[in-house]
This record gives sequence, C-alpha cells and structure tokens, in this order.
Amino acid sequence: VRLVRYGDEQVGCVLGGLVVDVTAAIPASANPMRTLIESWEELAGPVAERAAAGAAAGTPPAEAGLLAPLRPEKVLAAPANYRDHTAEMVELVGTQVIERFKGFLKSPSSVVGPGSDVVLPFHDRRFDYEGELGVVIGRRARGVAASAAFEHVFGYLPLLDMTMRGEEDRSFRKSFDTFTPIGPELVTADEVTDAGDLELKLWRNDELLQDANTSDLVWDIPKLIEVYSSVITLEPGDVIATGTPAGIGPVTDGDRLRLTIAEVGTLEVSVLESDSATSFPEPGAE
Ligand code: MN
Repeated sequence: VRLVRYGDEQVGCVLGGLVVDVTAAIPASANPMRTLIESWEELAGPVAERAAAGAAAGTPPAEAGLLAPLRPEKVLAAPANYRDHTAEMVELVGTQVIERFKGFLKSPSSVVGPGSDVVLPFHDRRFDYEGELGVVIGRRARGVAASAAFEHVFGYLPLLDMTMRGEEDRSFRKSFDTFTPIGPELVTADEVTDAGDLELKLWRNDELLQDANTSDLVWDIPKLIEVYSSVITLEPGDVIATGTPAGIGPVTDGDRLRLTIAEVGTLEVSVLESDSATSFPEPGAE
C-alpha cells in the first residue's frame, strides 16, 4: 500500500496514480496516520476495502495538497554509512565512520512534505543535500536483535537529510526548519522487494549527482535498528534516515532537488534562501 497524508490530516491510498481518501476507515484521532501505523494489523483490511470502494473518485496528487506522510516523534539518522561517501568526507572534514559516530537525532520539527521548500537560513554557510532511504518503524522496538529487526519496520520513504557543513554538532546543523523533506508516499514494507537492494539517485537541477544502491550501506537496516533500539525505544512512526552515498554537494537559492528510490518513490523540493537570511552568528558575537 502506498500511503499519503494530505489536506487536514486526511490519509489516502494511492491507487492508479490517484489519491483515495481512506480516513473514514481509521478510528478518530488527532494523528490518523500514526493511528493507522500503530494498528495496521487490524486496519489494513478496512483501509484496503475503503480504497477499493473509492477508487473511481480519486484526486490527482498535485491537487490533493500533499503533506509529509507522517509527523514523526523522533528522527534518528546514520552518519557516514556508505563507504564511498566516507571516502569523500575524508577530503571535506576528516575521517568519518559510522562505527565511531553511530547515530544522531534530527529535530522532528525539521520534517516537511513534498509541497514545501527547503529554506536556507544563512547566506555565508555551505548547505548540502543528502539523499537517503527513510525507514518508518511500525512496532515498538527496544533491544531488538538484527535478526528480528524487519518485524518492526512498517515501510519506507524517500528522505533528504539537509545539512549545514561545519564543525557544529550534527543535530544542530541538520535540524533547521524544513531540513528533513520526506515523501511523497509512505510505502508499506510488503511493496518493497528488498530494502537492502534499492537504487537511489539524486539530481540537483538536471545533474545526476548521487547514484548508488542501498546494498552499499555499511550498517544495513537490521544493524541500524539493533544499535538504535539498544539505546532508544523506537515507537511506531519514528523515522530512521539510513545515511547518504557519495556525491553530496552544495545547494543555493533556486536549486531543485529530485531524489528517486526504486519501488519507494520520487521526492522533489525547491531550495530557497530565506528572505530574512543573515550572516551566521559566530560564537560570542552580539
Ligand atoms: Mn545524512
């Protein structure tokens, strides 16, 4: 099933390229998408029936007002998790390996959907795109072994881990508002043949700059879930950004980014410099 969130907290299934409203199949909730993820075993059937019944009355995605497919409580992220990216980062910032850094949190408030722009807050700092596969947790995970990890995965989505380069902490550099675009669809795990073997491509404007496969992850999805769930209880709807391959690069005002992950979807966003962009405030500056 390919799920979207749109309008005023509506949940839709994408069928034949159209968005079909299935909100009525989900118990009333302030966060219907999370309710659906939490109760997927009971709700998958009613949602599928509702989608089939409404298939003739679907809305084109461009007219539906798509939002981020979900509002996660947590976004965990893997640093330096592709070997070829690790190699390029040595040039840029020195040795980086996931075995050393393991993981970090991005602020959930940085999440935006496919209709939103990435807004750059400073005009004198470098900002980069990072195309990544996002994993959405479906079942609470605490101390989960890698061998059982996929039982806790609900689905997948394209994710951009937008980044300010520099020596500040990762969570600080990657948590600006709009710095985690996700979507447009949240694709349930059964739709994906093998999450450990998906082509990932990213274009800045018309230039193909990232071209990789999730089979090149240093820590694969089960390993990430094992390590992160040993520290943090992962809840339904939490997102793991699995890391970016080689080919990162800067963005500037007016750039378009397009991230395509096989079987999962294509995320497109524009990059704008904020109207109120300032110089980066140096430590101690008044
Ligand atoms: Mn990243």
